[in-house]
Amino acid sequence: MTNPSLLILPGDGIGPEVMTEVRKIIDWFGAKRGLAFDVSEDLVGGCAYDKHGTPLHDDTMAKAQEVDAVLLGAVGGPQYDTLDFSVKPERGLLRLRKEMDLFSNLRPAQCFDALADFSSLKKDVVAGLDIMIVRELTSGVYFGEPRGIFEEGNERVGINTQRYTESEIARVARSAFDLAMKRDKRLCSMEKANVMESGILWREVVTEVGEDYPEVELSHMYADAGAMQLTRWPKQFDVIVTDNLFGDLLSDLAAMLTGSLGMLPSASLGAPMANGRPKALYEPVHGSAPDIAGQGKANPIACILSFAMALRYSFDQGEEAARLEGAIETVLADGLRTADLMGPKGGTPVSTSGMGDAIVSALDASL
Ligand code: NAD
Repeated sequence: MTNPSLLILPGDGIGPEVMTEVRKIIDWFGAKRGLAFDVSEDLVGGCAYDKHGTPLHDDTMAKAQEVDAVLLGAVGGPQYDTLDFSVKPERGLLRLRKEMDLFSNLRPAQCFDALADFSSLKKDVVAGLDIMIVRELTSGVYFGEPRGIFEEGNERVGINTQRYTESEIARVARSAFDLAMKRDKRLCSMEKANVMESGILWREVVTEVGEDYPEVELSHMYADAGAMQLTRWPKQFDVIVTDNLFGDLLSDLAAMLTGSLGMLPSASLGAPMANGRPKALYEPVHGSAPDIAGQGKANPIACILSFAMALRYSFDQGEEAARLEGAIETVLADGLRTADLMGPKGGTPVSTSGMGDAIVSALDASL
């Protein structure tokens, strides 16, 4: 049997630094758990522009379409700010998302107990929090036509159009139900069916898809009420599914319930491939952090947690993903902190590689 394949795109700034730590984790799973991956590595973003004059070479794009999962670090940097829009580093990432048709964006909000003090909310509201926001990523008001700024009478009018087809709603709903089946089997769908026709259709289609998932408890909530409930008592949720615009807002809100940007992973999933696995891109939420790049200060946990998501959602290795998350919980409980996690209570300062090594040791101890 061939090993599952992973394409690694470290990118720019702190991307390569955090990815070096992920490689240690990948090697550990190969050596200690018999979970070997065929890993290839390539360029994306500014470094790809420097070499090829484009932020994503066609060969890299083709490779991304073939592998079982893509793991990306971050792209961008001030030296590329003056480039033409068409070759900016971010265009490489956008091309990947578009051509892989990654319509389902997964943003977990998971609070490690040791970091509960970091939240702006009370500790008991966030400690142990583990929810997942599924955001529709390729349609809705960011893409709908007509759009633009037009002359109307003697003034200008700005127009964007919220537009969803049944099939667009159904496929993201299905991906959210599938996720709920791998978790606590509860799904809350959020829209504004009280004031938007697209919301009415959203609610109807999600309900219809739900008939195929009788084990999942489905609820519906208006997105504005959802925002309130997320800050009041976020632990009431397991999986939330919502559209592109509301998902943009709600996933940022939920993510920051838990503290630092250096801790936040994400996944973007598309349609199932011939082998049944979804097309998938895993990446930390943070950017290339040029202010700390090259100084050994970056927190690698967001990228390592992105690999944990790949284990769970691309490779059906939920127990191994939990082992990795448990190792991270252990090092945090032991007080190890990269600079971004050094709160008022202090801790033992570690570098990027120190954090990676400590997580590998905690993995060893988990055996
Ligand atoms: P950023 O996420 O790179 O950094 C914001 C702040 O958070 C900085 O102070 C940074 O030092 C800190 N930070 C981020 N990740 C960290 C980590 N892992 N450990 C410790 N601290 C961390 O956002 P920005 O400064 O707005 O953007 C910098 C560059 O990254 C820009 O070129 C931007 O376009 C790009 N960017 C890329 C992505 C991506 O690749 N997905 C996302 C956002 C921004």
